[in-house]
Amino acid sequence: RLRLAHSAVFNGDRLVRDVIVITDLTREYRAERLKSDFIATVSHELRTPLTPILGYLDLLRTRGAKMTPEKRAQALDLVADRARHMSRLVEDLLLTSRIDDGQDDPALRVDLDAHDLVALVRQVADDMGGADGRIVTHLPGEPVQVRCDAGRTIQVVGNLVSNALKYSPSAERVEVRLCVRDERALVEVVDRGRGIPADQLTKVFEKFHRVEDPMTMSTGGTGLGLFIARRLASAMGGDISLISALGTGSTFTLALPLARPHVS
Ligand code: ADP
Repeated sequence: RLRLAHSAVFNGDRLVRDVIVITDLTREYRAERLKSDFIATVSHELRTPLTPILGYLDLLRTRGAKMTPEKRAQALDLVADRARHMSRLVEDLLLTSRIDDGQDDPALRVDLDAHDLVALVRQVADDMGGADGRIVTHLPGEPVQVRCDAGRTIQVVGNLVSNALKYSPSAERVEVRLCVRDERALVEVVDRGRGIPADQLTKVFEKFHRVEDPMTMSTGGTGLGLFIARRLASAMGGDISLISALGTGSTFTLALPLARPHVS
């Protein structure tokens, strides 16, 4: 996007200066587009759960008295589930708006302590109900003590696992492995989904970035999950890495420092 401006300076009838100013508006244009894409995405993501919430509340209000207790409980569970989804989305938005490039951002302040990573990973799989048998865990029998914020670790691993489920066919399994290497504990989340193109491997960690393919576009999302997950991992002294190949699948690895490193 370029803007052309032309001005001519005359002295009487004589042209003394001809000035053409070319301004590159690409950045402004991109920023503007990002903003309107963002508003569209967020509105859509908030409206999606809101529709069943309003629908079921209306049903409960008008016909609730005649419903069986089971049906009523089902409707309430669904309303609660969708409301929780909205609440997570709003949390992500708030956290993102508060993350800036500063090192000591209070939004990312983590409460570091020793925790058994095996138990935390197991909790993620249990909370997701094993995602109908799709989640397969390979965990050591012994506890693996890491230095982390337990809630944030659950959030990060949960995000990687839910992406793996979301971006792979529903018949495919998602493996979650835990191992220790070089004084760090590694949680690997392996899927056999569509994979991520080589030129997008770093971009997927950027704010609002979503791969423009039919698989991504047919699922809901804001492109904030991995951005937040990577920031949280580094706030805990760890990181997230990614290996992926189109058509084969992806492996996201969360690395966290061991609580008591072995001195050799
Ligand atoms: P969201 O899932 O809300 O779009 P994320 O930040 O979690 O946002 O992910 C960013 C993008 O990275 C996704 O939109 C998707 O295109 C891609 N992605 C993330 N995880 C996977 C995965 N396991 N397999 C394939 N693509 C993925």
